[in-house]
Amino acid sequence: MEKTSSPYLINVRDLIHRPGEQRERDLEITTPDELANAVIGVRAGEPISVKATLESLHDGILVSAEVDSTARGECVRCLIDISQEVEVDIQEVFAYSVDEAFDYEVQGDHVNLEPVIRDAVVLSLPFQPVCQPDCPGLCPQCGVRLLDEPGHKHEEQTDPRWSALAALAGEPQNPGETGTKPGAETEER
Ligand SMILES: [Zn+2]
Ligand SMILES: [Zn+2]
Repeated sequence: MEKTSSPYLINVRDLIHRPGEQRERDLEITTPDELANAVIGVRAGEPISVKATLESLHDGILVSAEVDSTARGECVRCLIDISQEVEVDIQEVFAYSVDEAFDYEVQGDHVNLEPVIRDAVVLSLPFQPVCQPDCPGLCPQCGVRLLDEPGHKHEEQTDPRWSALAALAGEPQNPGETGTKPGAETEER
């Protein structure tokens, strides 16, 4: 039993040098290492489901697979935790012998899908993940998440200096004319 082996290994002993032979293989991998870029990725411990078709060729084993998992990270605008589905297809030949035509080789009785799945998953990840395409981010003044508070606003930037100026400017302009609109008809004098 291969008990210390990577969960990404598939035994292909029954396919080696039997061109034309084919079989399906489904794997439920719990990835020991994350597959991620700097901001989002499939984290260690996350399940990855792999539906693979293995086909014996003259010079190697062709592996085609559908890979599904979940990537987790943060919205780059509002910093909330997000997760998104990862779905990638891989297709790769694992050669029987070192051959510059192929990037991967059959190792003993196995093919190791780890590098292939890693590349495909990491390439599929966004560099600027967002919780939703039009996420408005955080309020630049108080940092509140704008999606959580629709209509969030700071009352006309009530900077105390401005309101003091407004009061000063307003007072002498219409002395004793409370009740009429300032500046409505008493501009000329
Ligand atoms: Zn967001
Ligand atoms: Zn605010």
